[in-house]
Amino acid sequence: MVIEPKVRGFICTTAHPEGCAKSVLAQINTAKKYAGKITAAKRALVIGGSTGYGLASRIALAFGGGASTLNVMFERPASGVRTATAGWYNTAAFEREAAKSGLYAKSVNGDAFSQEIKNRVIEAIKRDLGTVDAVIYSLASPRRTLPDGTVANSVLKTVGENFTNKTIDLRTNEVGEVTVTPATPDEIDATIKVMGGEDWAAWISALNDAGVLEKGALTLAYSYIGPELTYPIYTNGSIGMAKRDLFYTAQAISKKYGITARISVNKALVTQSSAAIPVVPLYISLLYKVMKKAGTHEGCIEQMCRLFAEKLGKYDSEGYIRLDDLEMAPEIQKEVAKAWKAVNAQNLADYADIDGYWDDFYRMFGFKCDGVDYSADVEPNVAIQEA
Ligand code: NAD
Repeated sequence: MVIEPKVRGFICTTAHPEGCAKSVLAQINTAKKYAGKITAAKRALVIGGSTGYGLASRIALAFGGGASTLNVMFERPASGVRTATAGWYNTAAFEREAAKSGLYAKSVNGDAFSQEIKNRVIEAIKRDLGTVDAVIYSLASPRRTLPDGTVANSVLKTVGENFTNKTIDLRTNEVGEVTVTPATPDEIDATIKVMGGEDWAAWISALNDAGVLEKGALTLAYSYIGPELTYPIYTNGSIGMAKRDLFYTAQAISKKYGITARISVNKALVTQSSAAIPVVPLYISLLYKVMKKAGTHEGCIEQMCRLFAEKLGKYDSEGYIRLDDLEMAPEIQKEVAKAWKAVNAQNLADYADIDGYWDDFYRMFGFKCDGVDYSADVEPNVAIQEA
């Protein structure tokens, strides 16, 4: 079938297998440049390894460091006239390339929050790997089904007060204003349940109890801090409360299991998750313009290669790994703040790398990739290596 993008707001409901494969290949080629410099893991479990930062972590560890990788994801295969999700096609492409390079690469597709998937992963590790020496926790999810069957929904709201600021309407590319209302205490609790550390700790506990966690293993989860202008919606908002919980969980995990558990604070980038946050996509498009001009722009793969090759063991005063160092450089933030003040509906193109934003957005779903004939028939059914 001929596959075209179908964009609805901040999501694209189709994905292109060949385009996804191209962008995975490009990331693999970047990671290969780090060969010999990444020694963080021999056998890594990547939870949320099919898109965004998790996929880039998997690629960096495998192709920059020769690691065997087991991925947990929640993706949909193709069925009837529906394409698979981008994460499914990314995974198929990654695993094909891994096989060519003689690297172990398998996936478990299902709800990472569930005990059933944890058990399946543990069985796969016992059978295929023995133990894992790295666990990357890179889930981004709007909801979590709790052990008692109830569902917690995360919200992207403020804590305390309304927050009004500029935003971009991704359907029309128009700059306007948005008012984000405060989360209720129950909504904050639910957001912490979904995006906080409880499930990360449950994974580590399950792996440890099953005897499949290597002594002295490394485990990382990802966070974001950003500039003051996004504090009300991110760092001090409901998602920020969950990220704080993640940080305390890292400390608790390190203490309890004697392993290295840390939070890496990553750069703001276009991913399926960040597109959903009010205000942030406009900030990202301004940031892209400033960082590209300065020559310091990085995508997920450059960030993850730098993390594993250069940043492990280096912490700020609070104990975070700061991969957002280039984003937060004072000269970059000064320019972004100026642009934020000036940008409006009429001059968006002058200040924002809106084309760059949309290029990244389409490429996440395998569209607008060089060298792909989008008018050609393509097979949407693609197999992955299920563990
Ligand atoms: P993403 O949406 O690209 O990836 C999410 C991954 O989680 C996918 O592999 C998806 O399949 C998996 N997933 C979601 N729900 C699942 C479930 N129930 N069971 C199994 N797998 C599930 O997200 P991302 O932007 O790469 O975010 C990953 C982490 O990085 C998050 O903690 C996020 O807060 C953090 N982060 C993101 C940014 C950013 O700008 N995108 C910046 C800093 C930190």
